[in-house]
This record gives sequence, C-alpha cells and structure tokens, in this order.
Amino acid sequence: MIVSRCAICGGKVEEREISEEVKIRNDFVVIENLRAGVCVECGERYYPPGVVDRLRGIERSLMDREKLKRLDVIGSTYRLRYDATF
Ligand SMILES: [Zn+2]
Repeated sequence: MIVSRCAICGGKVEEREISEEVKIRNDFVVIENLRAGVCVECGERYYPPGVVDRLRGIERSLMDREKLKRLDVIGSTYRLRYDATF
C-alpha cells in the first residue's frame, strides 16, 4: 500500500480491486482486476508504482486495431446529441 490516508480528504485508503477505462479513439477498453488504493470517503485512487506506466503501455499497444479487435467485446458506445428529442 502506498498511502494509508487520503491526501485530499484525510479518509482511510483501502486496497481494492478496481477497473480502469482507457479510451482508444472512439473505443473504450475496461481494464479489469487492477489493485489500487481507494479512499473510502472520496473515492480518490492511489496506484502502486508502475501501474500508471503499465496503463499507458496498454493504451499505446491498443492503438494497433488488430490487437484491439482480439479483445472480448462487452458493450457498445452510442452517440446522442444533448439537445436531441429523446
Ligand atoms: Zn479522500
């Protein structure tokens, strides 16, 4: 664990399994089973050393469409204009 208290609100930081969303052009990839510190009060996340670099590495790697297409599809992204009648 990197920190035990949140730098923003002073709340308790617990280690949890979380997921992170990475945007690749118009696609989103949910990276699962990531362990990080999460503030129980405000939700701020604290990543162990190396996690941010790994996430950026995954992001760069997935700019390759062939690699992206090999992943499981779990949902779709839709577009809606804010001022549209809905
Ligand atoms: Zn906090």
